[in-house]
Amino acid sequence: MMLQRRNAWLVIVMLLGNITTFLLLAYFCPMALKRIWHAQWLSFIEYDFGRLTRYLAVLLLCLTVEASVLGWHNCSLRRLLRPSLSARHDLVVALINASGFVGVVLIFFTFGTARLLPGAVHHFLRTEWLASLQLPIVSYLVWSVVSDFVHYWHHRAMHTFKVFWELHKYHHAATELNMLTGGRVHFVEKASLLVCQSVPLALLGATVESFVYVAAARQVLELFQHSMVRWDFGWAGQWLVYSPVGHRIHHSPERQHWDCNFGNLLPIWDHMFGTWYQGTDVNETVGVSNNYLVTGSVWGGIITAYRRAVQEFWRSLITGRWIAEHIAEARAERDRTDSR
Ligand SMILES: [Zn+2]
Ligand SMILES: [Zn+2]
Repeated sequence: MMLQRRNAWLVIVMLLGNITTFLLLAYFCPMALKRIWHAQWLSFIEYDFGRLTRYLAVLLLCLTVEASVLGWHNCSLRRLLRPSLSARHDLVVALINASGFVGVVLIFFTFGTARLLPGAVHHFLRTEWLASLQLPIVSYLVWSVVSDFVHYWHHRAMHTFKVFWELHKYHHAATELNMLTGGRVHFVEKASLLVCQSVPLALLGATVESFVYVAAARQVLELFQHSMVRWDFGWAGQWLVYSPVGHRIHHSPERQHWDCNFGNLLPIWDHMFGTWYQGTDVNETVGVSNNYLVTGSVWGGIITAYRRAVQEFWRSLITGRWIAEHIAEARAERDRTDSR
């Protein structure tokens, strides 16, 4: 794997940053270092093969259903068996996500904060509010709604601010959708969502039980949200649960679809905060303009997105312009239409 020179420099800086962070932790806060090490070690030795087997079984079932709906030529299975560069990104990230190694990648990209911050939030903000109700299903439902709300705003911020958009663009750089594209999220974005969601989780004192059937249903939904099936679920897709068409519009390269449909599970947040796409046009293609991630290696793409985010941060700081251009454009367009 050849890294561009600028990316190689960034990897060296990250390596040095990680070594410095861990030396500082070893000196000032050895307990935190011990916790990070312990949690990571557990994810290797207590690897949940049962969960992986369930995931693969559901995935296989969904791939089969999708192939029977879309036909062999357009289905995800074909796209994954003969992968384009876009699908190769999806496959590599899916493999990392499925492995115990994902924790190490998250730690490396965030200098340990992916593990340290949720632990600190849990330690300082933790209540026993929902756990004391002793009603795991209620706890799960409340947690699902609240975490979905946080997910909506996190996702919206990812699009709105230049610095975050460079990271989130990694997801939107997919030039085709297949059922694994949903997991193709930059590791820094993934870590930041974990940190954001850890705050309400701690404040609510929710015990996030694992309900096998609910988890499977969510997995089915997530897989189909990144499929080209033309399912919009009618009324339910508008108000109750995000449909594949609803999320496909979010991936649209067409200007009329920008700054729309940020929800993950529930579309209600988009209705409440004015980001629901009101039209009826559905895009046939997906992607972003100026897509620099369609060439080069998978790791090169991940590092490039990170480097560009760091560059955007400094540029925004100097210019004072933090809003991503495509969002500013979409908003201006909407204002023009409203004033007509
Ligand atoms: Zn997005
Ligand atoms: Zn997506």
